[in-house]
Amino acid sequence: MADIRGRLTFSGGVHPPESKEYSENCPIEVVPVPKQAAVLLSQHLGAACAPLVAKRDKVAAGQMIGKAEAFVSAPVHSPVNGTVKDITLLPHPAIGRTMGILIETDETGNAPKQPAARHFDRTFDPAGFSVDAICRAAQEAGLVGMGGAGFPSRVKIEPNPSMPKELLIINACECEPFITCDYRVMLEWTWQVLAGIRLAARAAGVSRTRIGIEDNKPEAIRVMTEAVRTLDEAEDIQVVPVKTKYPQGGERQLIRAIEKKTVPTGGIPPAIGICVLNVATCAALAEMAVLSQPLTHRVVTVTGRAIARPGNYYVPIGISAAELIDHCGGLTEKAAKVVLGGPMMGFAIADLSQPITKTSGALTLLTRTDVSEAKYQKQQTPCIRCGRCLAACPENLNPTKIAHAVKHFRMEMADQYYLSACIECGCCSYVCPAQIELTGYIKTGKLLKARAKKRQG
Ligand code: SF4
Ligand code: SF4
Repeated sequence: MADIRGRLTFSGGVHPPESKEYSENCPIEVVPVPKQAAVLLSQHLGAACAPLVAKRDKVAAGQMIGKAEAFVSAPVHSPVNGTVKDITLLPHPAIGRTMGILIETDETGNAPKQPAARHFDRTFDPAGFSVDAICRAAQEAGLVGMGGAGFPSRVKIEPNPSMPKELLIINACECEPFITCDYRVMLEWTWQVLAGIRLAARAAGVSRTRIGIEDNKPEAIRVMTEAVRTLDEAEDIQVVPVKTKYPQGGERQLIRAIEKKTVPTGGIPPAIGICVLNVATCAALAEMAVLSQPLTHRVVTVTGRAIARPGNYYVPIGISAAELIDHCGGLTEKAAKVVLGGPMMGFAIADLSQPITKTSGALTLLTRTDVSEAKYQKQQTPCIRCGRCLAACPENLNPTKIAHAVKHFRMEMADQYYLSACIECGCCSYVCPAQIELTGYIKTGKLLKARAKKRQG
């Protein structure tokens, strides 16, 4: 067995409690068909989709119901057979509300979709797929970065002569506390993941592929390494253990750890010849390219002390948080906080009709004790200029200066301190002994800037 200790890393970052024990040993479980599905028209970076259906239309599972009309966008599909009940504003974790399609599920003729992993094994050969076919599959499947960023995958992998790609990095770090969905996908859908990785490498035209896995996942490192060993060496795919540290799964941080290269501020990885994809995204690419099944389902970790049956669940995209919580046995005690995602970068939600989206990797249910133990619940005091936020920032920013500028509406000054370069990882807030919600100020600053830009047209 290869040495799985990951020494590769980035500067800055923090070590929050991992809390993976609630769900890491829970095999992926298929959930029943929900009573209704709420499919948001905006589940990705870029332009929202335009609806392709109207109220009272019948829709079939896998049918495209929202089409992408812009270069950076991705279509959406119905996860169930049913009838369109409404096209209306629905809760969105990041922006409050957005348009979505509400589908009432047919009482008969629906069966839970099963994972596609059984269709893949070591004999898979990506040579049978043209670059064009793979890129088309990524677009038609509505594939987006499922690790949280939600950037349309076709834009990432398709050839671009002005920015040729040399290296594909697979982001399998899952550095956010509590979340284990990608870990289980690697263990249980290994060949499907590897098929997707090879298809993506073929489409992107890269000569090397590196799969970055944090060294707190030795079993995933072992399974993926053994699978990769069955391939021809000429494909040059390697598993690279990296140090367990948050936010190791940040795209820019992973590139620094593996390649010792820095993506220019405001730039994107292809600018330095690199494409980064998440493992679940690769599995979904294989499903579409090989089986013509679009992205209608994903694995979600439901976890935390407040849920009766924590685990990893294969769910229709559009199921509500409430229905998913019910399926997981309900709450063990009153949840003090429900987070869509993990505790560092997730979104606290108050409305449990919030649907699961393509980028929702977890639903974390925190108890009153968890929340009262959290630093952000304690009283804020003045900055003591300790510099801990600077040392923790993986982007080498000065969080306190940016937050101060935003607090006083000095947006030009915030820009001078590179407000837009913040990846919103939360490390600065996490380490601040004065309990200053630095990331909150920075997020607000970005929102204010976006609104001002919109007003200017
Ligand atoms: S300033 Fe942004 S990137 Fe730096 S630690 Fe804070 S949240 Fe993370
Ligand atoms: S960590 Fe908090 S107290 Fe220390 S310098 Fe930063 S903002 Fe000030």
